Amino acid sequence: MKLKIETSKRIELVDITSEILKEVRKSEIPKGICLISTRHTTAGIIINENESGLREDILDLLNKLVPAGTGYRHDRIDNNADSHLRAVLLGASEALPILEGKLELGTWQRIFFAEMDGPRNRTVDITLLRA
Ligand code: ZN
Repeated sequence: MKLKIETSKRIELVDITSEILKEVRKSEIPKGICLISTRHTTAGIIINENESGLREDILDLLNKLVPAGTGYRHDRIDNNADSHLRAVLLGASEALPILEGKLELGTWQRIFFAEMDGPRNRTVDITLLRA
């Protein structure tokens, strides 16, 4: 299924865990794999803790690792090279096991859509495979 997301900032982390848990529950798959992926080139999917300070730390890290507008070649045609490069570091998907009908997430783990070039309307694909 497809999950629609409307982001509101240039870079931000959107917690999509509850929507994904709902899909896993609805599927009634007892054992399998949940693949969360996005087809965008300036966004990513990551798993980590949803703590407000940490969310800011992650975005600060990305800003430090890939500062905007420092002479990237892609900026000559699109002016968003930093967004693509940050997305490269994050990756476009995460896969998690489903066991006994439940997504195998750690106590503090949450799934985020990572917007790197918003605000935009975005889509996340949730693919469930029965084992
Ligand atoms: Zn671009």
